[in-house]
Amino acid sequence: MSTNCPLCGLPPRGVIQTFTAAQTAELFTSRVLGREPNRRMEAILKDLWHGETVQVMRCDRCDFGYADPFVAGTAEFYQLEAPDTPYPRDKWEYRHTLQQLAGWSAQGATLLDIGAGKGYFLSQLIEAGWNPGNLMATEFSAAGRRAIEGLGVTCHPTDVRALEVGERRFDAICLFQVLEHLDGYDALMDAVSRLATPKAHLFIAVPNGARIDFNEENGLQYDCPPNHVSRWRPKSFQVFAEKYGWTLEGCALEPAPSLRDEAVYGAVNRFIRQSHVPGTWARTVYAAARRLPNRRAGQAVKALGLAASPDAWRAGARVARAAAGGGVPHALWAHLRRRV
Ligand SMILES: [Zn+2]
Repeated sequence: MSTNCPLCGLPPRGVIQTFTAAQTAELFTSRVLGREPNRRMEAILKDLWHGETVQVMRCDRCDFGYADPFVAGTAEFYQLEAPDTPYPRDKWEYRHTLQQLAGWSAQGATLLDIGAGKGYFLSQLIEAGWNPGNLMATEFSAAGRRAIEGLGVTCHPTDVRALEVGERRFDAICLFQVLEHLDGYDALMDAVSRLATPKAHLFIAVPNGARIDFNEENGLQYDCPPNHVSRWRPKSFQVFAEKYGWTLEGCALEPAPSLRDEAVYGAVNRFIRQSHVPGTWARTVYAAARRLPNRRAGQAVKALGLAASPDAWRAGARVARAAAGGGVPHALWAHLRRRV
């Protein structure tokens, strides 16, 4: 029995991916980094899924992908995972949201940033004239919390579903690169509605579901649960908004990368994917980099290994060719408005 779609409640229409706990443990905590953390990760995943595998299911009605079992990563999972970041974190959604918020600060508007990271978006708001006293954040990481409080913004290390702020309500609420990590939408949207003023605005940014599928189809990295447990497209947000009594005011996609950027992204990302496959050149390079005394030397070895990898550059060329017929943006943004 597979899990019904978390948005529309109907059975799925197909399977996008199937991952075993062993495969997934390798992707999040590679054996190259040591046997013991890898074994611990595999045990965490089996506990979480009550079994050996997880699938990513497809709902065609909602144009939505979701993990089955639909369970988010635990604190234990996030403490153990050792992510490779193939690309600088893009801030397109910040700029795009700032444009929507032009003129709001003068009217004394209030904003809550859920999972605010290091407070980069909040600092842009303050630069744009917002009073830090009108802003609030939630963030778990100690480093992020310090950075946010350094801006003069109150930061709660709390899940928004349990956030208590007395009588305070917010005119705008932001969920940037957060929703794809979460399960439990009913409790999430109960909390968001409780914290929102009437007719409040909700701004959401997620990885573009079409881009995730594109990456996997072109031999780049897999996007595995339980880090991301959902894949969103504009239609998914339409269903999501309706379900919780909000109106979808609009969706936007980040401009697609240039073909040159696609080629580099493809090569780097392919090299990382292959580093998880025993017997490959990329795996050898990662194992060698691991034995070096410091991180910088390790990075240099990886860069040289990548430069000497025909497989990676072939993948880069393939990704650029695939994108030439119409680019596939990395980020998807949605603007929801509370109906009452
Ligand atoms: Zn659905």
